[in-house]
Amino acid sequence: MSQTDDRDQLAEHLRFLGGLGVAGVSRDRAWRQRVGPPAADGNGSPAPAPDGEPGGAGGALVETLETLRSDIGDCTRCKLHRLGRSQVVFGAGNPNADLMFVGEAPGHDEDVQGIPFVGRAGQLLTKIIEAIELTRDDVYIANVVKCRPPENRNPEPDEIATCEPFLFRQVQSIKPKVIVALGTFAARTLLRTTEPISKLRGRFYTYGDAALMATFHPAFLLRSPDRKRDVWDDMKMVRAVLRGDAVDTPA
Ligand code: URA
Repeated sequence: MSQTDDRDQLAEHLRFLGGLGVAGVSRDRAWRQRVGPPAADGNGSPAPAPDGEPGGAGGALVETLETLRSDIGDCTRCKLHRLGRSQVVFGAGNPNADLMFVGEAPGHDEDVQGIPFVGRAGQLLTKIIEAIELTRDDVYIANVVKCRPPENRNPEPDEIATCEPFLFRQVQSIKPKVIVALGTFAARTLLRTTEPISKLRGRFYTYGDAALMATFHPAFLLRSPDRKRDVWDDMKMVRAVLRGDAVDTPA
């Protein structure tokens, strides 16, 4: 690689970090430490789409997002409907998107506005999307769980089990080329694993017909800004796949 390429890459990296609000860099060892490669079951081999879900055998007729939204209705299928949520936060963006982001569950701002990722973490997600030269209108954004858990607690297994079929059907309808699973809950739900996100991130998996990248959740980045460069590494791979470029996935 030439010095000019090196400089271009460095400039791009710094622009990304600057856009995400990183004011400087540190030579401290801990800051530079990298997450190691995923463990045995996070080896980049195809993850089968869960039964009857996107990419699964069958190739049934694809429903529209409108049909799916009306099927969810004013959902009372799990306990979250009586634990303070004000509305179902279905998803937002381009129904034909090549790139789909999947988060965990709506927070307070999302519950008020009915749109995913509009709070502080959402603003950071917007910057991440813009860093790969896309806009929120180009992509589709959804969550594993469509209703706000009380006090922003983690979604519970029964809530995920009840709601995840709607996420799978959203993926099936949108047919994205690439899915970015934001954080542990999205990655575990889509990859059917219990591995932590730190082990799963940084490589592509197969989810049905889509390439799936797991990366850190923007809310985690707000608490641990030193991990933004990992997300940038992951997002560069996502951008490359969207552009049809060959990607070197870490061994
Ligand atoms: N965090 C999420 O996982 N989803 C949202 O919609 C907002 C914050």
